[in-house]
Amino acid sequence: MTQSSLPKPRIAIVGYGSQGRAHALNLRDSGFDVTVGLRPGGPTEAKAKADGFMVRSPAEAVKDADLVAVLTPDMVQRKVYEEALAPNMKQGACLLFAHGLNVHYGMIAPRDDLDVILVAPKGPGALVRREYEIGRGVPCIYAIHQDRSGNARQLALAYADGLGGARANLIETNFKEETETDLFGEQAVLCGGASSLVQAGFEVLVEAGYQPEIAYYEVLHELKLIVDLFYEGGITRMLEFVSETAQYGDYVSGPRVIDESVKQRMREVLKDIQDGTFTKNWVAEYEAGLPNYNRYKQADLEHPIEQVGKKLRAKMVWLDNSPKDQKEAA
Ligand code: NAD
Ligand code: MG
Repeated sequence: MTQSSLPKPRIAIVGYGSQGRAHALNLRDSGFDVTVGLRPGGPTEAKAKADGFMVRSPAEAVKDADLVAVLTPDMVQRKVYEEALAPNMKQGACLLFAHGLNVHYGMIAPRDDLDVILVAPKGPGALVRREYEIGRGVPCIYAIHQDRSGNARQLALAYADGLGGARANLIETNFKEETETDLFGEQAVLCGGASSLVQAGFEVLVEAGYQPEIAYYEVLHELKLIVDLFYEGGITRMLEFVSETAQYGDYVSGPRVIDESVKQRMREVLKDIQDGTFTKNWVAEYEAGLPNYNRYKQADLEHPIEQVGKKLRAKMVWLDNSPKDQKEAA
């Protein structure tokens, strides 16, 4: 699939988590020379070595690289850039992100000689790897923030192609659009919206006296079927597969639950993202040692739907319940 007309930069991948591992493996399989940069003794070092990569400290790994992909968690990227990347990257090299947060909100001001680009797969790392392995790909969006070489677009396309993204679709965007839509999507719809919708539906049924097991299957388990249909053919395909009764209920009750007031609050969420309030709060929370983050997380983990879900999923022996880092290997 890889187009021979595209450049073949020497790549250093800094970070070997969800995205880092998938990028490193896919790019290597697409014929790129890939080195991995990690803190010595860090949690993913052994994994990268076991996958056959040359692992060096971030400062060492980026010295010879034509392109450096920053795939550490967003909140440590500034430190990694300032301490390891900025002092060591070659003149005129390319700095790549998978999410524009640090550049868009000004936490990282990249060196003036560097090309600065973004390639963001629209899916988690495990899917980026799995789809590549079966000859498919996850759509990628890409953007150019700084083009000093005149070659930045070609580099972004080469990287996205190497990830397998070109097999699905590549769309050009800019750092602002990628960052703001990505944050909005995960907050309002994907992670925040979907989990809160499921928890609220579960609570309403259980508080009304229905069995938690039945409520679980109804509002969480069955969501997979619906989302699979969305993925295959949009809302149109979902409507084709559900009963007339379900369709009628959808039409009259969906807008009662997700009404104009919900949309209004979504706009407020978007505004906090656009004006930097969300990111300012997130940086402060991170720097304070994540007190609220840990509390919120604990509440999610202790929600009754998690207790009943654990019990019911134990009966579905085919489920892959391996931890995140092992799941990536699948
Ligand atoms: P992750 O938490 O899964 O992995 C982070 C990696 O960075 C690990 O290997 C960790 O050991 C390493 N690391 C942590 N601190 C480090 C440091 N100080 N120096 C060097 N290495 C360090 O991260 P992720 O979810 O893959 O996110 C990486 C980037 O990809 C982020 O910018 C994120 O927004 C973006 N992204 C993630 C997803 C996703 O599905 N997870 C999707 C699209 C884009
Ligand atoms: Mg995101």
